[in-house]
Amino acid sequence: MAKGRTEIAELGEFGLIDRLTAKFQNKNKSTICGVGDDAAVIEASKDKAIVVSTDSMLEGIDFDLTYFPPKHLGYKAVTKGISDVVAMNAVPEQITLSLGISSKISVEFLDDFYEGVEFACKEAGVDLVGGDTSASMTGFVVNITAVGRAKKSDIAYRSGAKEHDLICLTGNLGASYMGLRLLERERRVLQGVDNPQPQFEGYEYLLQRYLKPRARYDMVESLRKEGIVPTSMIDITDGLASEVLQICKASKCGARIYLERMPLAKQTTALAEEMHLDPVVAALNGGEDYELLFTVPLDKREQIVSLGCIDIIGHITAESTGAYLVTPDGNDIALQAQGFTPKR
Ligand code: ADP
Ligand code: MG
Repeated sequence: MAKGRTEIAELGEFGLIDRLTAKFQNKNKSTICGVGDDAAVIEASKDKAIVVSTDSMLEGIDFDLTYFPPKHLGYKAVTKGISDVVAMNAVPEQITLSLGISSKISVEFLDDFYEGVEFACKEAGVDLVGGDTSASMTGFVVNITAVGRAKKSDIAYRSGAKEHDLICLTGNLGASYMGLRLLERERRVLQGVDNPQPQFEGYEYLLQRYLKPRARYDMVESLRKEGIVPTSMIDITDGLASEVLQICKASKCGARIYLERMPLAKQTTALAEEMHLDPVVAALNGGEDYELLFTVPLDKREQIVSLGCIDIIGHITAESTGAYLVTPDGNDIALQAQGFTPKR
């Protein structure tokens, strides 16, 4: 019987994952949490768990080698892997790295790539413990699996946010996206130019945020020292709007985020202005910030403020009220998810 054909765009990324994984039921007692969070959680001992996450980066989809230095790509791959472990409030300890190598990739390119991997591993205290190497017909492919550990009682799922909880955010948003826009602009301007001299002056921070972002493993330590276990947590890879909606969906709650509390770096606002873009859209939908979005009960406000590097950008509401961005003049704008749609 003909099965017909459904375009992936009809389901969207999250609809597709739901459809493919719906039939799977966990049978092993050691599987504490399967599909649906930043990482899977597996029992290690009576009170400890291992967390595992895997991610891919594909040339032409996730990065462009015309402007992505291999050393930075190696660094970013490690960040991408361990950020999901960190988003469970776990300490990343090991990674494995698998490569699909196309004919245009040289040994020197791979040496540089691994220099970046080594640097990121050293910085984060993570061991590279394995991987796989194969050929690729299409482009350079990177797959990274990251493993971490935590006390079971310290693990922060997406699903624990409660009404009135504070919504907290580390760092700032939209800088990585603006860094990408800058690189894309310079590439277009300089296409076909001999000895190109791209203009990046004054925007170095944006480039660093896109090309060499650091995962917030420092926060796992800071939260532990404060004795705070977030009621929910997620890392910002798809943009704030999408991540808030993921927490709302998993926690069965609503949210109110206040536009004037959106942390934006000076360079983000400056380049957005120059390019006639709205920096808030970059923050909401840009993604790849690798910052942490988490919720804590109301009575943790002072402790959170005392940590210094965290903004309280809103609060959790009842599920029936939905998820909104509140503008300074009191307008409520419904948050919209992004996710990927396959490129043609
Ligand atoms: P993240 O952006 O945090 O890496 P994703 O949005 O990629 O998370 O994935 C959401 C959840 O779906 C995760 O728990 C992930 O392990 C799971 N997942 C994604 N793709 C697949 C797949 N093809 N098969 C099984 N599980 C998947
Ligand atoms: Mg994640």
